[in-house]
Amino acid sequence: MTSSTDRGVSSDHILGFARSLLSHRVAKGRHHPHEVFQTSTLISLIEGLYDGNVAYRTVMGHGDFGVGTFNALDGEMVALDGSFFHLRSDGSVTPVAGDELTPFAAVTWFRPNIDHAEPATLSREECEQVVHGLASDNLFYALRIDGHFPSMRTRTVSKQSKPYPRLVDASASQTTTTLTDTTGTIVGFHTPDYAQGIGVAGYHLHFLSADHGTGGHVFDFTVDAPRIRIDSEAELHLSLQATHEFLSTSFAGDVSAEITKSEGGPGITAG
Ligand SMILES: [Zn+2]
Repeated sequence: MTSSTDRGVSSDHILGFARSLLSHRVAKGRHHPHEVFQTSTLISLIEGLYDGNVAYRTVMGHGDFGVGTFNALDGEMVALDGSFFHLRSDGSVTPVAGDELTPFAAVTWFRPNIDHAEPATLSREECEQVVHGLASDNLFYALRIDGHFPSMRTRTVSKQSKPYPRLVDASASQTTTTLTDTTGTIVGFHTPDYAQGIGVAGYHLHFLSADHGTGGHVFDFTVDAPRIRIDSEAELHLSLQATHEFLSTSFAGDVSAEITKSEGGPGITAG
């Protein structure tokens, strides 16, 4: 049974719903907090797909914090506090230009819901154990570690030429750099075990020194009294590449051994 009053209430409801939907969409368009936006998959890099068709200006629209690489595997990307840095194998660090392309990047609007100060000096393994205790292994989450690092071992991938080698071969010849007594920030993500192939199960961490002068993909470190921040309320937005190579490559083979070999250490992925 319908009366004019009922219709009035119901249009108000519809209007209110439409308004809240609209404002929700606008809010999402600007910032979608706690969303991990990732373009492409780790398994694409494993297969040697190093050319993406996603520009960094698109990635920058999805976060202010993250990690990634560049077309032809030309270095490492670190995004921190809204600034995007391009770290190359020659040691140079430059701002990322919006038109630079990426085959793999992950970013988020970093809004930590966990903020933990650890008084001790920790190895990477000990630091990971602390992090394990702070957030569930079953979540994708963003992780930031600030501190003084007595040692920090990183690598920066070097630009590859076509035909591209598989990642396991491209990373076999990489050189690593060990920094001592450096201050800076680790930026990274945790990927759950069940998402092997989308990322590597475990942590993917990049380092940026406090002066923004150096950094790279993290292999190993020790850290004094780190401040550990985690944005653990994450949803995953996986954006796949629409390149011919991605669409026509078979990902059916078992590449677990190659993923492990390319990782560079337990829980740490290449790229
Ligand atoms: Zn990396």
